[in-house]
Amino acid sequence: MTGKRVQKLQPGLIDMVLDALLVSREENCRYLSGFTGSSGWLLISNNHTILATDFRYIEQAGKEAPNFEVIQVKGDLHSWLPRIAQDMGWHRLGFETSLPFSTYHQLKAATEGKLEIVPTAGLVENLRCIKEPAELEIIDRAVHLTDAAFEHIKTIIHPGMKEKEIAWELEKFLRQEGSEAIPFEIIVASGPNSALPHAHPSERRICSGEPVLIDMGARIDGYCSDFSRTFSLGRDEKLEEIYSIVLEAQLTAIKKIQPGMSMAEADRLAREVIDRAGYGEAFGHSLGHGVGLEIHELPTLSPNSQDVLADGMVFTVEPGIYLPGWGGVRIEDVVTLEQGKSRVLTMSRKDSRSAIFPIAV
Ligand code: ZN
Repeated sequence: MTGKRVQKLQPGLIDMVLDALLVSREENCRYLSGFTGSSGWLLISNNHTILATDFRYIEQAGKEAPNFEVIQVKGDLHSWLPRIAQDMGWHRLGFETSLPFSTYHQLKAATEGKLEIVPTAGLVENLRCIKEPAELEIIDRAVHLTDAAFEHIKTIIHPGMKEKEIAWELEKFLRQEGSEAIPFEIIVASGPNSALPHAHPSERRICSGEPVLIDMGARIDGYCSDFSRTFSLGRDEKLEEIYSIVLEAQLTAIKKIQPGMSMAEADRLAREVIDRAGYGEAFGHSLGHGVGLEIHELPTLSPNSQDVLADGMVFTVEPGIYLPGWGGVRIEDVVTLEQGKSRVLTMSRKDSRSAIFPIAV
């Protein structure tokens, strides 16, 4: 599996006339080699695949990355990399722009005149955004876990509960049911707090008849899911109105999104619905983002991206309307493209009144 991924990277190296690529980003190392340790570098050339790590990870590296030649290194990158490059006869080495600036600076100083180091962006990330069937299967499990957590919280949530308590109940459930460390702090935002797209759970107690926005993710075998629902414990007409607009925007985008479409076009599908309803200004973020080994990865479904959607991509579709002082509504599903069409992985209901008012109060 990982051997195939390395092969797919080769054309990128040839295009940039690189003798080798230094892969430093943790998720990229994992994707290409299988190595899950937090300290390791890959060196990939036409005929070498090297995993360099320190003594803490040597045994693990050997087991997890059988297709790589594992070497033990000590100290900072600039203290050992120039020698390897010289032994290999490399003249042009690509590095990822996510490399810390200080590390780049040291490496540049240590290789001056001997090795040209060349910035590269997205070589591995662009491979990662097309998921293999086995990756999709893991993401699907992570998505089902967030669905299950939402079902669970519905059985215990009640007016008077603090946002923080609800967030903790969700986190406990996710961990107990198999999530690794969750990918981001769970958002539980009630009433006016829900107008902040990235609110932190507070001591606020939720009341009936106001929006409650939950946004959470699970992580299984390294892969993330991302999930948002907005509901209310008790009737609220304003919420019904705003909710139906966001839902229409989301369903329209999911229905019409297809391979070959630009990210900007995909974003516009939902944005037009919200604009038409007069809330364009209140939808201030992009339509969605890729999910995989990272909670936010390619593709980016934003008005500014001319990148193109393709079969095998997995991303969120999450329009929202946020009204300061009142609150906000976001509905987020994980969606994949297969055989020219979108398929929603998230199962939690969203399309009837019982999704907005899931609990009789
Ligand atoms: Zn998201």
